[in-house]
Order: sequence, then C-alpha cells, then structure tokens
Amino acid sequence: MQTTLKKSFSIEGIGVHTGTHSKITILPAEPNSGINLRMDGVNIPAVVENVKETLHGVTLSNGTKEIKTCEHILSALYGAEIDNAIIKVEGEEIPALDGSSLPITKLIKTSSQDSKKKTVNLKECMFLENNGASIFAIPSEEFKITFVIDYPYPGISTQYKCLSITPEIYREQIAGARTYAFMEWIDELQEKGLIRGGSLKNAVVIGPDGPLNSLRYEDEQVRHKILDLIGDLSLLGARLKGWIFAVKSGHTLNIEFVRRIKCSLT
Ligand SMILES: [Zn+2]
Repeated sequence: MQTTLKKSFSIEGIGVHTGTHSKITILPAEPNSGINLRMDGVNIPAVVENVKETLHGVTLSNGTKEIKTCEHILSALYGAEIDNAIIKVEGEEIPALDGSSLPITKLIKTSSQDSKKKTVNLKECMFLENNGASIFAIPSEEFKITFVIDYPYPGISTQYKCLSITPEIYREQIAGARTYAFMEWIDELQEKGLIRGGSLKNAVVIGPDGPLNSLRYEDEQVRHKILDLIGDLSLLGARLKGWIFAVKSGHTLNIEFVRRIKCSLT
C-alpha cells in the first residue's frame, strides 16, 4: 500500500543558508504522484534528475525555479514511508527549524492508499568512493544503513551507527539529530555567503573542546549523517531495499549513488 498524509500542515522559519524567512505547506497527494515541491505554481518533482547542487545541502531545480536545502524535509517524508505528497514552498529555501527533521516528523500523520508501493531491490553489490568517502551497498530485504564518521578535528569522536530504518526507528533515533558545523568551517562558509541563518538554535557547533550545545544523543552527528542520507535516497522516487554502508559520505557521493542505482535499473 502507498501512503500519503492524513491532512496537510504548515511550518515556517529561517533558511540556514539564505537567512530568509520561508513557509512550507505539506499536502496529501494522489497515488503514484510521488513527492513534488511546488513554488509559485511550478512543480519540481523530488527526483535525482532535478538535483542542481549538493555542496552544502541539496538544491532541487526544474531549470527555472530552484529550492535550497531540501534534504531534511525529504528525509522526514521518506523516514515516515510517505510515497505521495506536495511540498508547497513560499520562499527560496526550506526552513532550518531546529536543524533536524523532528519538527516535521512530529506533524506527519499517515494515510494508506490503495496502490502498490514502488520499491527498488538492489540486485547486486555496489561500491563507489570519492576523496576518502565511500558507499558500499548489498542486497537486503530490509532498508538498513550503517554509517561511520571520522573527522580530523579534536572535539568529535569517531562515530558508528547501524540501524534498520522503519518509521518508528526513524522517529525515535534519527529525526531529532541536528545538523552540525565545525567552528573552523564557519568563517569560510560565511565568506561564501552561506549559513547566514545559522545559529546554535538550528545547528550543533563543534569547537576544539567539543560541541558548544548540549547534545540530544551522544553520537548525534552520525545520526544526522544517516538523516541526510535518507533524504538523499528519497530522490530515487521509490522505497529502497538494501543495506548501505557509508563511510564519511556526504550529499555529493550520496546523490551519485542514487544516480548509479537508477542507471542500473534501465
Ligand atoms: Zn543535514
């Protein structure tokens, strides 16, 4: 059975990169319509073909309109196993909220639809790597993620997490994990005109002696990486069955992985 929302809801706030205010309304949608973003009446399907930028978040575009920082809202919907929804965006960036997907996850109530879920089963092992990051995936009946992070900075430990992703596990173990930045990144990001809306209210900042915020989980950062990966995998446009092992991966490699899976299906 496919799933949509029982009822629509809205949420608003500041975009982490633009610092501008935006509002999103998430509405139920017809079976087989997938996840679609809508801006000024223009439809942008949330599929990997519409990814424009992956460097500091995922920007989706149909060529004329673009929407920044889509990954956390997409993760919330995929984590709840929502197949069909419309995300109406008033503004240029998805609001950062508290830096996690929990504020959205809490508002999602699902409704079943009488159509078969679209699924993609990995049929063979896949491996890709770039610049010290790697993703390895094997066939599995479950949707399972193992993630390792290991930064060359003091203030953060090597973190490892392995979870079978179900809506319950997503809500309890992943949704609340906030995005993070290292203090030494901040000047460079600001010089590039990014993180204009970033603050300790919507991100964990990690200094040489550790996080400046109090953490929600001891290993909050690796959980957030799983949150991001789930949002990126949603751009497959189908439920993935497979076990993914990611080491130090980010949006760019995650999206390349999704492209590879799509290519392997044709
Ligand atoms: Zn993120």
